[in-house]
Formats: sequence, structure tokens, C-alpha cells
Amino acid sequence: MKELISKNFGLFIQDKITGTNIEKKYIELKKTQNYNNKETYSYQLEKLKKLLINAYENINFYKKIMDENNLNPYNLISLDELNKLPIIDKSILQKNNIRNINIKKVKIVKTGGTTGIPLKIIKDSNVRSYTWAAYYRWYSWMGIEFGDKVISLWGTPTTLKSSIRKKVYIKLSNYLTNNYEINTFEMNQENIEEIIAFLKKEKPKLLRGYLSSLLFVANYILKNNIKLCIPNISSTTATLFPHDREKLKKAFNGEVFDQYGCSEATSIAFECSKHSGLHITNERVIIEVVDKNGNRVYDEPGEIVITDLDNYAMPIIRYKNGDMAIMSTSPCSCGIKSPMLRKIIGRTIDTIQLKNGENVPGWFFTNIFYELKYPHELMKINRFQCYQEKKNYLVLKLETSENIDKEFLVDLKNSLNYFIDNINIECLEKIPNEASGKFRYIKSEI
Ligand SMILES: [Zn+2]
Repeated sequence: MKELISKNFGLFIQDKITGTNIEKKYIELKKTQNYNNKETYSYQLEKLKKLLINAYENINFYKKIMDENNLNPYNLISLDELNKLPIIDKSILQKNNIRNINIKKVKIVKTGGTTGIPLKIIKDSNVRSYTWAAYYRWYSWMGIEFGDKVISLWGTPTTLKSSIRKKVYIKLSNYLTNNYEINTFEMNQENIEEIIAFLKKEKPKLLRGYLSSLLFVANYILKNNIKLCIPNISSTTATLFPHDREKLKKAFNGEVFDQYGCSEATSIAFECSKHSGLHITNERVIIEVVDKNGNRVYDEPGEIVITDLDNYAMPIIRYKNGDMAIMSTSPCSCGIKSPMLRKIIGRTIDTIQLKNGENVPGWFFTNIFYELKYPHELMKINRFQCYQEKKNYLVLKLETSENIDKEFLVDLKNSLNYFIDNINIECLEKIPNEASGKFRYIKSEI
């Protein structure tokens, strides 16, 4: 009965309560995903023109940079004209007021990122509608229909009590959408069995959540040989490394789907059932992957530059969020023609300096792990953290509750010594999360 209500009325009522238009945008996105390249180009151009005109008319910062760079938004005829504008970053967003105060009904999202410098992102109902619509379209790629049960492992570390109105809204919204939430900040060794029993009883079609929370549950399941079958798993907030994906697949007996977004712009890219990369939601965003000089690069790592086509309350135009990715030149075999991000590499600020002075991101170390070919030992490691306090010195922390083979540790140290002279490997039962609740694979003080 409940499922029936959710399937038929959930989206309609959610739209009414939140002032969004998800249902309409969802129908639109199901249509546009079949567009050919020419149709997509016209669609993007029209949206970009509207965004630029809006930014030009309402925000001094954008008016100034468009005038300075001879970009006339009223005469926009090509997407390439976007390149006339400079790439901006978080510090520029912080220094300049880019909020369009004429737009009401906004939501404020605070972002800290790994730098810890807070920034308020303002989102209007248009961007929230498209964001959710893109999410639901992604669910449809997994075979999940609206109203199917979804359980999320999330939570916000807060000492503030949420208002009764907010609590009621969340409960109602969850009921209508057949969503359940488990607060990960209350998840611990004592109640983990209860949580697993809940998952068994509820049989969700999708379990989504912070990667560190999903791994916490997965490790317990694997260690205790618990049988659980959840057809779809999706993780967020951290780079999904191949060994994590394998672990999640094994523990939950389901398919693992990756996705990409950031606080500044969500629903950027989603993985389909071919698992060969992430489809960019090009109805929502224009994504560029650029080298140090700002030129686009393909099939090699570069920095992500985002233009959010839907947020008029705080336009994000050619914004470098600090993440890196590889833009693919080959299309996906699933038939959807959108451009693909082959790999999300992680934050550029999260790097470790090698003895030759080169800075490398976290996946560099994952590759080293894999080259060693110790699958059994790798399964014992819940997660790892590279901590660099000074040059040519690295502390590699491995979180494990079991004894790690000494030979593996010696091999690992030897391999790492090739890049950094002083390596200290520590095996710990628990590596703490950051105060924000997120986990950082890479921490550097230099
Ligand atoms: Zn695909």
C-alpha cells in the first residue's frame, strides 16, 4: 500500500511541499538522454545563454568579467564562447558576492572541503529540481522505479537540535518517497548488528551512503560471514577505489554504482550498468577537464571546471572545484551519448610529494597496493591513510583488526621507498574521521 502511494503520488506531493518541479524535469531528462549530439548542443546553448544573461543582469562580478572579456550573452552563438571567461575558484567565490538576491525560495548549503575554509552555496528551486530529476533518472538506469525502497547511510555531525518542523518534513518526505535514513554518526560496534538486521528485514533495492559508512558495514558482514543481498549500492563523498568496490560487491552481493558531485554543484556525473565511467549530466552542467594552462585535455588527468546551467541564485560559471578527472574520448556502449568521465581522481589539494618533488594524488598509492598482488592481505585492510608531515617522509596508516602478513608490509615499504626515502607503516585498529565526519585518504602538512 505504502509503495503504491509512493509510486503514484510521492513525487507530486514532494514537489508540492518543497516547491520543486522534479516530476516535470524527470520527464524532460528521460527524453533528453536520447538526444543526438546536435540536439544536445542546441539544448545546452539555449540554457547557457539564459544563465549568462541572468548572471549579467543581476550580478556585478559576472557583468564585469563578461564586459572585460568581450562576451555578449545576448548574442551567444557558440558554447566555445564560454572559454572567453576566466576560470574561477573557491577563493574568488569567497571574495565576490555572486548571489542573485532577486531569487527567492533558496536553500543554503555550507561547504568546507578539505581546505576547511567555509563557503555558502545558495541553490534555487530550479537547480534542486534538476538535481533530483537527474538522481531519479540514474535510479532508473539501475532498474529502480520511483517509490522503490532506498536506504541511506548518512548523517550530519551537529550539536544543534533540528526544529520540529524540519523533523516532521524529513519524516513525511521519507515516507512519501519510501526512503529510510540511518544516521551514521550513531553507528557503532554495539548497534551494527541491529542495522544489518534492519537491512535484511527492509530489503532495499538501493543502499546508498558515505563510502566510509558503507565500508564499515561491509567489513562487519565479511568478517562475520553474514549473508545479505542488496541489488544496488552507491557511494558518495570519497573516491571509490577498485578495492573498495570489490569489497562492497562481495559484502552486499550487489552491483556498485559510482556517482560524482560536489557541494557547489550536485548530480554532475553518474555511472551506468556498463561500469565503464561516469556519464556527465550534460543537461545540467558543462564540464571541462583542463591542464595547468586552462586548455582542455582528454584521456589524461586534468582539473575539473564546472558550469552549472541550472542555478540562477548563485551562478557557478567556469568554476574549478579542486578535483581532478580524466575525460574520455570513447562513448559508452550503453547507447547514452553523453560525454564520459573515465575516472575521478580526487582532490588536487590532497596530494603527497615524492622525493623528486612531484605531487601525486591518493590513487597513486592504490595502484602500488595492486601491483603487489596480495589480494588476501588487501581484503584485511579496511581503509588506509597517507600522512605527510615533512618532505621525503610518509606515514602510511593501515586500518585493520587482523594481523597483516609481514612479507606484504616489507614489500609495500620497499615499493614505496622507490618514491619516498623514509616510510613508516602503522597498522591501527581505527583511523579516526575528520571532525566533519568525512574520511581523508591523504593528509599533507607540506
Ligand atoms: Zn553508459
